[in-house]
Amino acid sequence: MKFCSKCGAAVERRIPEGEDRERWVCSACATIHYENPRMVVGCIVEQGGHILLCKRAIEPRHGYWTVPAGFLEIGESAVQGAVRETYEEAGARVQVIAPYAHFDIPHIGQAYIFYRARMLAPEISAGTESLEVKWAEPADIPWAELAFPVVRIALELHTQEAKTSSYHMHTGILARDEASRYVLREHLALPLFHA
Ligand SMILES: [Zn+2]
Repeated sequence: MKFCSKCGAAVERRIPEGEDRERWVCSACATIHYENPRMVVGCIVEQGGHILLCKRAIEPRHGYWTVPAGFLEIGESAVQGAVRETYEEAGARVQVIAPYAHFDIPHIGQAYIFYRARMLAPEISAGTESLEVKWAEPADIPWAELAFPVVRIALELHTQEAKTSSYHMHTGILARDEASRYVLREHLALPLFHA
C-alpha cells in the first residue's frame, strides 16, 4: 500500500495510538488502513471414490493441480463462495454436504475453508482459470504436482478417511517444519457421523 484510498496522500507504517502493532496510516488524514487475513473457500467434490481436480491456468502455480477454490467475495457466504468457485473453475454444479477443514496460514494472512460436496449434474468443464479438469481416484492424485501445500494436506486427510468413509471436520495451522516442509500444527479433528 502506498497511498490513502480516502484522500490520496502517502501512507506510512506506524503504530496507531492505543494499538499494539504497525498499520498503514495516512500521513494527511490519519485514516488507519487495516489489513486482515483473506478467506479462501473450496470444495472437495466426491463421486464414486474419485475427487474433482483442476489444473491451474493462472498464476500462482500455473500448470499445477488443485481442488476448485478461490477468494471469498463480499456478499456471499463461505458455502456460496465454494460452490461458485467450483462452477467457475470446473464447470461443476455441486451441493455442499459437510464442512471438511479450516486451515489457517497466518504467515501469509490466509484462512482456507474446504467443504465436501457432491455433483448435482454430471457435467464438468475447464473454466477460464483452468487448463483441464479431471476425476482422480486416490492412486491417481498427482501429489508432486499439487499447487499448494494446504491442498496437499487436505487431500492427504481426505484420501485416508475416504477408505472407511470416516470423515472429520479438521482445523489446524499450516506452518513450516525444520526441513521447511509445510505441516499441520494444532490439528483438531471432530468426527462427523452423519455423512
Ligand atoms: Zn488519507
